[in-house]
Amino acid sequence: MDAEKFFSETYDVARDRFLEAAGRAGGRIVHYAHPGARGPGGIALSLDTAWFGPEDATTVLLNTSGTHGAEGFAGSAAQLAWINTCGPQDLPPDTAALLVHAVNPFGFAWGLRATENNVDINRNFVDYSAPLPDNPLYEELHGFLCPKSLDDAAMQKILTEGTRFVERNGQWALEDAMSRGQYTHPDGYHFGGHKAEWSNITMHHIVKTELLRASRIGFIDWHSGPAGDGELIHLCFSKPDSAQFARAAHWWGRDALDPKTVNSMWGSRRPSRRGIMFWGLEEQLSPQAQFAGAVIEFRSAIQKSSPSKAMRASLLERWLRFEAGFDAPEAQKYFDEIREDYAPRRKSWHINVIRNALECYRTTLIGLGEWKHESLRAAD
Ligand SMILES: [Zn+2]
Repeated sequence: MDAEKFFSETYDVARDRFLEAAGRAGGRIVHYAHPGARGPGGIALSLDTAWFGPEDATTVLLNTSGTHGAEGFAGSAAQLAWINTCGPQDLPPDTAALLVHAVNPFGFAWGLRATENNVDINRNFVDYSAPLPDNPLYEELHGFLCPKSLDDAAMQKILTEGTRFVERNGQWALEDAMSRGQYTHPDGYHFGGHKAEWSNITMHHIVKTELLRASRIGFIDWHSGPAGDGELIHLCFSKPDSAQFARAAHWWGRDALDPKTVNSMWGSRRPSRRGIMFWGLEEQLSPQAQFAGAVIEFRSAIQKSSPSKAMRASLLERWLRFEAGFDAPEAQKYFDEIREDYAPRRKSWHINVIRNALECYRTTLIGLGEWKHESLRAAD
């Protein structure tokens, strides 16, 4: 199979191809036009869904792409490959699939990770009527990780301050404070937001209108970023001793979900996180539906020789948003550099992403087909 044909150069091409393929395969399509944000050249943005299979299916695969905008290039290609390789025709009985294309269309269209408000959607599913999660070490990081310029002197200063921070707190604390989510600095890293984003509200609406009839939901949220060449990392956010975790392990193998495997593939111990979409949707579906699945990463970036290089895509995104603007002379070069981390143009990566995605869809759908009967046996 020619895997490269499923990858698109831009968000709007990816979107058109998703809609065309879904329509041709008999999917029921719904458009959710973004009310305000625009992409490059002023293009309109939309989150789109396609439902395949019986409307009254009691088991549904919910599959999202582009939660972290630029990571949507891989997720969209995986969705297109599944639709075009007869996935919709091979659904098990009483099972449907709801494909959600471009959860964060602004990020997808610009090739950036966060939303139009610099919000990380996977930190935005928190209860805004309660005190927001804290991140006590973030303030210190923000002080030296937000330079006005990206010249050599500025980068050297970041390196010096970063080394001091690591000496005091350890390497993992740096990664954790930067990426666990923070709710204090709207112009900072992994900002969780001060209210629910449009993408968050839209996802809740989709769950309410499409999924409340079902009693079993399998979830795959496609992501990309960690260093590698298309291998999958399964980030299951269910409690390790829960039935939901056991369910996901049954589909994908206990080893794939084991924290030791995940940490070694991730490259370090995973940061603690708050406000993950997985938890937000799970809570909304509870108690009427069981919810099992994972955020699944396609490893994508080239291995970086130093932690500061590993942080560069985040630095560039922030600098473009808050210091230079998207029309700065350096912008195109930096957009390309960011994209290389999340959606590289390597042939080997395209091949591995599609092969691993299709295998993951296959095992997940077998598991979804058996789920109903297994739960009957459990109830006996
Ligand atoms: Zn991601």
